[in-house]
Amino acid sequence: YCAATKTFHSLRAPFPMPPPDRPLSFPAFAFSLLPRPLPASRAALIDAATAEPVPFPAFLSRVRALAAALRARLGVSPGDVAFVLAPAGVHVPVLYCALMSVGAVVSPANPSLTAREVSHLLALSNPSVAFAVRATAGKLPPGLNTVLLDSPAFLSCFLHGEEDDTKAIVQQSDPAAILYSSGTTGRAKAVVLTHRNLMACNAARGPATGEVLMLAVPLFHIYGFTFCLRVATSAHTVVLHTARRFDARAVLAAVARFGVTRLALAPPALLAIVRAAEEDQTVVSAVATTTLQSVSFGGAPTAPELLARFSRKFPSVSLMQGYGLTETTSGFCRVAGEEESARTGSVGRLSWGAEAKIVHPETGLALPPGVPGELCVRGPFVMKGYLGEKDSTSAILDSEGWLKTGDLCYIDKDGIIFVVDRLKELIKYKGYQVPPAELESLLQTHPDIDDAAVVPYPDDQAGELPVAFIVRHSGSYLHEAHIKEFVAKQLPDAMGNLHTPHDPVVHYKRIHHVFFVNSIPKNAAGKILRKDLAKL
Ligand code: AMP
Repeated sequence: YCAATKTFHSLRAPFPMPPPDRPLSFPAFAFSLLPRPLPASRAALIDAATAEPVPFPAFLSRVRALAAALRARLGVSPGDVAFVLAPAGVHVPVLYCALMSVGAVVSPANPSLTAREVSHLLALSNPSVAFAVRATAGKLPPGLNTVLLDSPAFLSCFLHGEEDDTKAIVQQSDPAAILYSSGTTGRAKAVVLTHRNLMACNAARGPATGEVLMLAVPLFHIYGFTFCLRVATSAHTVVLHTARRFDARAVLAAVARFGVTRLALAPPALLAIVRAAEEDQTVVSAVATTTLQSVSFGGAPTAPELLARFSRKFPSVSLMQGYGLTETTSGFCRVAGEEESARTGSVGRLSWGAEAKIVHPETGLALPPGVPGELCVRGPFVMKGYLGEKDSTSAILDSEGWLKTGDLCYIDKDGIIFVVDRLKELIKYKGYQVPPAELESLLQTHPDIDDAAVVPYPDDQAGELPVAFIVRHSGSYLHEAHIKEFVAKQLPDAMGNLHTPHDPVVHYKRIHHVFFVNSIPKNAAGKILRKDLAKL
């Protein structure tokens, strides 16, 4: 902590980063870090459901063959945006690396989104090509050139075709990925991350150690997106959880089968594992015989009691809480060693290259150690900005490079960071973003609704549930069930016609409770006073 500037700096040793002005794509940088000769017998990727391994040499040749096919068959050129709407699978990290290596911008989205939600994202990022599977392709507009990842043509021509060594000229400051986040306010926006952002995120995680990582987190969210790319930066084996549902016993069986050393989860999955262990002692003894050393979790708050319950059942497994945002290319803090992870609720210290300050949420003045306020961060992992949204970008990212996280945090005198609460309007259901503004604008299209506000409601299982405060139009008898249904399902109009081709929102954005009020509390500028509603 520097008292003169009131900022915190990371003391972690720097990891070699290339000079910033040297043209270099993230995959080219990553592959240069792989040990040579490549570990031929070691799997780069494993699908946990099929146990099918992709050895390192095959992984690299698939990336090269796919890159060649992207150029030659699809005419993909640097700067083109490629939308990816696919469930987790071993092709996904290959696709991410191939796209970035030809200078294209990877834009993954949740395959469970509805066509209506997908069209909003497409309007933001304007892709020239899309990658989907049979089950998701129908959500894409017919005019968008779409490649099916589960078609025989993809496997034969794209993955096993001719390789080429043509190198695209990619600057480190060029966009590499576009992910979607609502940030501190409003609807989803297109977060532009550069090749250098991804390099910095890797540097923050430290040198390769050749672990076996199992990912039970989605590959379209920043957490899984950056985690799955670790296959390319180190000789890590990445085991992908590809089942639709999280089953604690099945995941722990996969841990044993594939020699997993580190498991990455969302907080609800941690709860599922703890419950399974509390119900059945054989789960505990089975884990004790595995190679599992640590469990990484994050993306949403986790109750400290849950961490204590986990540690009681699995004392030899260390818990590593991750904290970060899509806008910071995933985590910028790192829990290292027993001492830090033992501190309940801490997310560790700043990673390499990170600076932080805690500011008073209203005055913006920097606060001393130990005092909670809004966490602001600066570093090589901070996004370029929101695509095409200057005002939203400058609202979160100032001219000196400080990004407002929208989270209430404090940093103690030892530099250890604690997340206390969320200041921004975002709701997190099992780690998934539910932007209240999106639901509010949907609710306001209902003729019987005069005003609406959506806020989080605490829940053991999901973390938070979206609930709505509704001002009914005078004389309306609109009731709770109808409102829930209006958000969840495609409804016929007065003439019995269906207008939207699909349900309005994905399952995790559904409204769980409705409270009828006479007015929505707002400040003088018309901003909804969400904390007042949450208290109500
Ligand atoms: P996303 O961009 O979807 O990753 O959402 C980032 C937000 O998730 C952060 O600003 C926090 O509000 C929340 N979040 C992520 N990790 C944690 C954590 N470990 N503890 C508490 N909140 C978290």
